[in-house]
Amino acid sequence: MFDELIGFLRQWYRTDGPIPLHEPRFGPAEEHGVAGAVRSTFVSSVGPEVDRFEADLANRTGSRRAVCTVNGTAGLEVALRVAGVEPGQEVITQPLSFVATANAIAHLGATPVFIDVEAETLGLSPGALETWLDDSAERTDEGTCRNRLTGKRIAAVVPMHTFGHPARMNELLAVADRWNLPVVEDAAEALGSTRQGLAAGTFGLMGCLSFNGNKIITTGGGGAILTDAEDLADRARHLSTTARKKHAWLYEHDQVAWNYRMPNLNAALGCVQLTRLDEFLADKRQLAEAYGKLFAPIDGVEFISEPPGCRSNYWLNAILLPDRNARDELLRRTNRAGLATRPVWTLLCDLPMYRAAPAGPLDQARNLEERIVNLPSSARMP
Ligand SMILES: *Cc1c(COP(=O)(O)O)cnc(C)c1O
Repeated sequence: MFDELIGFLRQWYRTDGPIPLHEPRFGPAEEHGVAGAVRSTFVSSVGPEVDRFEADLANRTGSRRAVCTVNGTAGLEVALRVAGVEPGQEVITQPLSFVATANAIAHLGATPVFIDVEAETLGLSPGALETWLDDSAERTDEGTCRNRLTGKRIAAVVPMHTFGHPARMNELLAVADRWNLPVVEDAAEALGSTRQGLAAGTFGLMGCLSFNGNKIITTGGGGAILTDAEDLADRARHLSTTARKKHAWLYEHDQVAWNYRMPNLNAALGCVQLTRLDEFLADKRQLAEAYGKLFAPIDGVEFISEPPGCRSNYWLNAILLPDRNARDELLRRTNRAGLATRPVWTLLCDLPMYRAAPAGPLDQARNLEERIVNLPSSARMP
C-alpha cells in the first residue's frame, strides 16, 4: 500500500523530489495583478482592489456582502464580536479544528465550549449539539441561552467545514434557532464548497473565509466575512478599519476597534486567484477521485469523500486508518519517502490554554484524531 501511494503521487505530480502537503499556484496573471497594485501606489488598506475583491467574493459565493480582513482569524474575531459575543461569555465550537477557531473566541474574552463532531462531515454534530444544550443549558427570562453549570451566557455557535467538507448546516441551524443562538461558520477551508448548491459560509448569520498561503486560493495572508445582513457587514467593516467615521479629512473614531483591513496589495493577488478557483476546484476533484480509486480496493483505509448532497472543494484530502499505530506507520513511511503527509490537529480541548474549557462527550473527535491522515493535495503543478 505504501509503495502504491508513493508511486501514485510521484506520477501525479511528476517529480522525484519532495511533495508538499499544499502549495499555492501562481502564473503571470498573479504577477501582473500584484505589480499593478505596486505601480498604483495603493498597497495598503485603501484601494480599488480590496473593494473589487469584496464584490467578486460576494458574487462568487452568492452572499450579499463580503468584508475583507488581514487574515481568517481576524475575520472570525470581528464576526463573533458583531454577532454579539462579549467578554465572559461562552461560544460553542468543535474540538477538531485549527487553533484559530478557538483563539478568535478567546481573544474576545470568551470561552470555547467543545462539542463533538460527526464522522460523516467531520463537522459539528447537530445531535451532539442538541443533546448538550438540552442537558447543560437553560433559557433565561430575556430569551438568551445560559450554561447551567458555569452560569455564563452562551452567545454563538461556530461550526467548521473541515478540510472543505460542508457541515450539516440545516440541522445545526435548526438546533441553534431553537436556542436563539447565532451561527458563525468557520468556512476558512471551504471556499468553493457547496451544500444543496449553496456556498459554505453563507448558511449562518455570517461565515468566515481564509486566504492564507495554504488555502485553496491565497492572498498571501487574508480573510473575509460573508453575510447577507447589510448592517452586520457595515459594522464589521467599521470595526476592522479603526472605527473611523466617514469624513473627508477628520480623524474621528467612535469606538475601540481593530486595524484588520486586508491591504490592497493582497487583494490584488486575491482578485486574480479567484478567477482561477474553478480551475483549482477541477484539479482537486480529479485528485480526490484518483485517491478514491487508489484506496477503494485497500482494506483498512477509508478515503474521506464529500458528504451526501454536497460538493466539497477537497481542499485537503484525508484518509482514515484503523488505529493510531497504522496512522503512525503511514506517516513514517511516506514522510521518509519525501511525501508530506500529516496527522490532523491535536484536539483543541487538549491544548494547555483550552484544557479547562467546558466540553461535552468527545468520542467521535477522539476516534477521528487518532486515525486521520492528510495527504498531499495541491492543485496539480503546471
Ligand atoms: C486557516 C484557518 C483559519 C484562519 O487562518 P488564518 O491563517 O488566520 O487566515 C481559521 N480556521 C480554520 C479551521 C482554518 O483552517
